[in-house]
Amino acid sequence: MKTLLVANWKMNPASFKEAKALLDATRKAGDKAKQVSLVIAPPSIYLRQLRLLYKGKRIAFGAQSANAELGGAFTGDISLTQVRDAKASYILVGHAERRAAGETNADTKKKVAAALALNLTPVLCVGETTRGNSGDHFGVVAEQIKAGLDGVQKPMIKKVLIAYEPVWAIGASRPMSSRDMHEMAIFIRKTIVGMHGDVGMQMRILYGGSIDETNAAEMCTEGEVEGLLVGRASAEPRKITALIAALQAA
Ligand code: PEP
Repeated sequence: MKTLLVANWKMNPASFKEAKALLDATRKAGDKAKQVSLVIAPPSIYLRQLRLLYKGKRIAFGAQSANAELGGAFTGDISLTQVRDAKASYILVGHAERRAAGETNADTKKKVAAALALNLTPVLCVGETTRGNSGDHFGVVAEQIKAGLDGVQKPMIKKVLIAYEPVWAIGASRPMSSRDMHEMAIFIRKTIVGMHGDVGMQMRILYGGSIDETNAAEMCTEGEVEGLLVGRASAEPRKITALIAALQAA
């Protein structure tokens, strides 16, 4: 199976000119890496224009966040319908930085349901903020998954991607160990099997948190994940080129 790489550019780069250069670097690297599927989630102000500029078929586009309401008085937000209208097909839901800014489990539930109704692929981001030895982090992750998938009809469940991103490993100096990711991937599947039955075994699970070209391949092969959600290393032409090449070589 191909490895899915979701590039979350966050609030980068500073200009559209640089955004075009970053898209171009990602496209060139992607064209040489048939084993890697790419999704770019740029700042929403660049989304439509980048999508129009890109003429290939190998890169899909997504938004980093959107409001589940169809429209209305939500200054500064964009809606899922606007995301779809921009011809994006993925939406990050419940990213740690959005949760820190107030996005709740109830919001993620609404967004996942609304995204599926619009035929967008939700990437439901889950992960504990801190990790001790008590095992509490499993409870946090189970609750986030239960909330995000609550009410989703069985045939739609496997359309949702789960991105496990331990918050303490985002923007850090190194990722979580692939062995711990393996354990978490089993836990996530079991949790979904418990809620929705066997479909839990078919879920696509991504890892996110301090991934770069030095650790990406190991995380995919040893961590039991089908893809990666990448922040910093996706927003720099040289880094994303090296990262995609490393995944192709794995
Ligand atoms: C992220 O924000 O989703 C992320 C994984 O960031 P970074 O790769 O920079 O740790």
